Amino acid sequence: MKVAVTSRSDVSAEVIQVLEEAGLEIAQRPCATEDEVIETAKDADAILVATLPLTSRRVLQALPRLKVVCRNGVGVDSVDLDAATELGICVCNSPGVNTTEVADHAMALLLSITRQIPELRERVEAGAWSDRPSELAGIRKRMTRIAGSTVGIAGFGNIGQAFSLRIRGFGPNRIIAYDPYAPQTVADLFGVRLCDLDELLTQSDFISIHMPLTESNRHLFGRAAFQEMKPSAVLINTARGPIVDGAALHEALTTGQIAAAGLDVTEVEPLDPESPLLELPNLTITPHFAGASGFSAAEGSKRWAENAVRVLNGKPPWGLANPDVVKRIAIMREHKARRWEGIPDMRLSTGF
Ligand code: NAD
Repeated sequence: MKVAVTSRSDVSAEVIQVLEEAGLEIAQRPCATEDEVIETAKDADAILVATLPLTSRRVLQALPRLKVVCRNGVGVDSVDLDAATELGICVCNSPGVNTTEVADHAMALLLSITRQIPELRERVEAGAWSDRPSELAGIRKRMTRIAGSTVGIAGFGNIGQAFSLRIRGFGPNRIIAYDPYAPQTVADLFGVRLCDLDELLTQSDFISIHMPLTESNRHLFGRAAFQEMKPSAVLINTARGPIVDGAALHEALTTGQIAAAGLDVTEVEPLDPESPLLELPNLTITPHFAGASGFSAAEGSKRWAENAVRVLNGKPPWGLANPDVVKRIAIMREHKARRWEGIPDMRLSTGF
């Protein structure tokens, strides 16, 4: 069987080793367009993709042997999940592989803002010190405490929960979370109360976003949301850029609708160096690197490749982002569809 590796990011030696040890033939080509992906993966059984180019319905339809699409990391918004499920193709990810890193990073962005770390560093470079308090007076007013505040978490899955554990140590008065799919019984384990979006927006002093990007939450944080938020509020987004409307955020930060924001992700990536967002002193930004660490890179790469090997051997992957595909594959097997011919049934080794 054949696996296509079309990612343009670094593909570690370990990825290749996992695939070779499993006896898979490898077609490796960093692809910039959907057409290049189609050409490289035309007779592939598995494909290891990056975020871009998108793994669209057109790409999936053009690959008749494809059984599994593997994304490195957690987010699968770049893959057409509905099309994959209809066609009987598994979409795999690695939940939890960088939960610690992203939760730490969200906390770091927030603390950079509440403690004004980037600006204080600039002031030190300009010769300022606390023995001349007048030089630092403006900054002092912008330095805030988390103790006694209301913290809002938007999306209460792995990373949202990990973030709640971290921020609890800073003494907030309460932590609330907006997640229509999370049960309160789970939130209870973290001392968090689930709420509706309105309450999250109007009550929170700090909001951290940890939900996947879907069709229904694109621009969830837009002009209307910013108008509801406190003028002192700080927004952190380490999830996906399009959940926040960039133009509305720019307006909110310049007109004082909210106080500050910390972003690891932007609506269009990479962010244009000329973007007006970069001129804002109350915006702290990092280059979509919240999940990064030596550990998550090594473990993530390994699982990225192992997901392909597992599915092609009828074993459960580390993460299946379209679980309904299991029923679809069962129907295809009954109809002797060519795509899954000769592949052991995953349901025999799992509780699916
Ligand atoms: P998860 O699946 O464990 O949790 C996501 C939670 O969001 C779930 O509880 C789900 O019910 C909830 N949710 C879904 N749609 C929602 C909506 N419209 N409104 C509110 N809640 C909603 O995922 P996770 O591991 O916590 O990761 C969350 C997201 O973080 C990922 O989807 C990914 O896009 C992003 N992420 C970013 C980086 C980075 O480097 N910046 C790294 C890893 C993950």
